[in-house]
Amino acid sequence: MILLKKAVDLTKELKTISDAGKSIGFVPTMGALHEGHLQLVQQCRAGSDITVVSIFVNPTQFNDPSDFARYPVTIEQDIRLLEEAGCDLLFLPSVEEIYPNGTAQLPRFDLGRLENIWEGKYRPGHFQGVCQVMSRLLELVMPAKLLMGRKDYQQCMVIRRLIGLKQWPIQLVIAATVREPSGLAMSSRNRRLDEQAKEKATAIFQALRFLAENLQPGPQQEMLTRATSMLNNAGFEKIDYLALADAATLEPVDDWNGQQQLVALAAAFINEVRLIDNMPLG
Ligand code: AMP
Repeated sequence: MILLKKAVDLTKELKTISDAGKSIGFVPTMGALHEGHLQLVQQCRAGSDITVVSIFVNPTQFNDPSDFARYPVTIEQDIRLLEEAGCDLLFLPSVEEIYPNGTAQLPRFDLGRLENIWEGKYRPGHFQGVCQVMSRLLELVMPAKLLMGRKDYQQCMVIRRLIGLKQWPIQLVIAATVREPSGLAMSSRNRRLDEQAKEKATAIFQALRFLAENLQPGPQQEMLTRATSMLNNAGFEKIDYLALADAATLEPVDDWNGQQQLVALAAAFINEVRLIDNMPLG
């Protein structure tokens, strides 16, 4: 595996690869890698000649500075895992490499409603930050395929929009959420949970599954109230949202017509750790 830290070196290396007619697949991450990330690497390898992974904890997408400060960093283990997984090139830039002109005057992106609903409402500025880092990374790598996890469903929709806005010839591949045997979605943030909290945190999966299994056309409020109690009873101290939304637009759905593709979305805190998850429905 080639490890590069400088954007100029990355551009040079990727040019050689493209000139040789090889296709590039890209998996951007913030490190603290787990099976969810490694599944993306595997899927990338299956569909591209060269698999590029980046590890960069992007400061501009953290609306809460303490969340940024506490974000887990396990770089040596990450490098070993990526080598074992068959990653060809790891890009490990500094903040200066990603934002050579600083972060004060970065571009803004027209994300429409996606910017301010769900995650956007509770993490103001988050998706602008995601687009700032992703536009820089995608301009550098310009992969034929970009692999992202369904675990961050709204992020996938935002990046789909970014690719559309920029008219980049990039195929977005959305991979299934990888879960623990308990159902808990794998996340770098799970490292901050002890075993007891992880056990309680499975309620988020159970609540989503409850909604999926009991979905009937008509008003959804009663089911949502019951699913919310599942989180409260498990010990989630704060629920930002637990809701049903249109799978394409993410607009909230209170009354299901029996046809629309839906997604159940959740974000809640356990032991001060904010977890998100989602499930397709309908
Ligand atoms: P992150 O390092 O959290 O920024 O995640 C990097 C990529 O891995 C994103 O596309 C995530 O959606 C994806 N990812 C994170 N957790 C999972 C998971 N449990 N299953 C599938 N993909 C995931």
